[in-house]
Amino acid sequence: MSEQTNYALEIENLFVEYHVDKEVVHALNGISLKLKKGETVGLVGETGAGKTTTGLSILRLIPSPPGVVRGKILVKGEDISTLSEKQMETIRGNVVSMIFQDPMTSLNPTKTVNDQIAEVIRLHEKIGKKEAAVKAGDMLEMVGIPRDRGGEYPHQFSGGMKQRVVIAMALACSPEILIADEPTTALDVTIQAQVLDMIRELKKKYDMSMIMITHDLGIVAEICDTVAIVYAGSIVEYGTLEDIFNRTAHPYTVGLFGSLPNMDDRTQRLKPIQGLMPDPTNLPEGCPFSPRCPQATEECRTRKPALRNIGGEHVVACHLFKEG
Ligand code: SF4
Repeated sequence: MSEQTNYALEIENLFVEYHVDKEVVHALNGISLKLKKGETVGLVGETGAGKTTTGLSILRLIPSPPGVVRGKILVKGEDISTLSEKQMETIRGNVVSMIFQDPMTSLNPTKTVNDQIAEVIRLHEKIGKKEAAVKAGDMLEMVGIPRDRGGEYPHQFSGGMKQRVVIAMALACSPEILIADEPTTALDVTIQAQVLDMIRELKKKYDMSMIMITHDLGIVAEICDTVAIVYAGSIVEYGTLEDIFNRTAHPYTVGLFGSLPNMDDRTQRLKPIQGLMPDPTNLPEGCPFSPRCPQATEECRTRKPALRNIGGEHVVACHLFKEG
């Protein structure tokens, strides 16, 4: 690995396009993000904003073709775009790991859960079958599943248990960076809380840095240190949890909070954000949020705002805000 850095991960000006038929899907449009060691950053936005694409790019799992990736991704200071596929295999799982959204599609229905976890361990560590099986049992216990259930198949587990198995697989090789892609979306609310608590504890135990991909601001408030609000493949606001919750700046972030029910005032009507995210094959010329923004001006429709620092770590891409 290259020189010492305080950052577990640095993303610089990341663009991802998919060239399909004669169209170009602009999935990511210049995302830059830094994740400090031990920190949790939330990537927040609607479906299709580019959150999962960011996670897949970090693991270099964007299929090419049709995907075209530009920009830099540094993992512990090392640019992963220059690594061979063989070198990437040592990064995936060992250094960076991802919990995928849907446990049903992340597990192989034809193999026992113990075998699946052991397989991941043996891919990364030079150990025998027996030792890997014992370690897989340890991982099951760590996520709260008795090791004697390791011989069962995924269909014999409930949704929450399956997600625990997926988490055990993601953590089997003690990664330094964990990308959790909506890890609780497919679960019941009561199980969601348990799984979130478990992720938080394991993160602390292993001193991991984490990217929490979610559309749920409640999860962000519970688990994140910093937050990046993503819209149409760009970060439109970034700041500490305090910045985003107490000094909300971007009209899109204001809209996200306005869409949440207010428990203190149940007579207040929800204010959903009108309209839909723009078509990624035909993004607006100016600010991508301008077709939905209640404060849009002529300038917004013709000139894309750059990210500006509005105090501390708080940055926002909106013409309403000036630097400082
Ligand atoms: Fe709204 Fe204009 Fe700000 Fe975009 S730049 S969020 S359209 S005010």
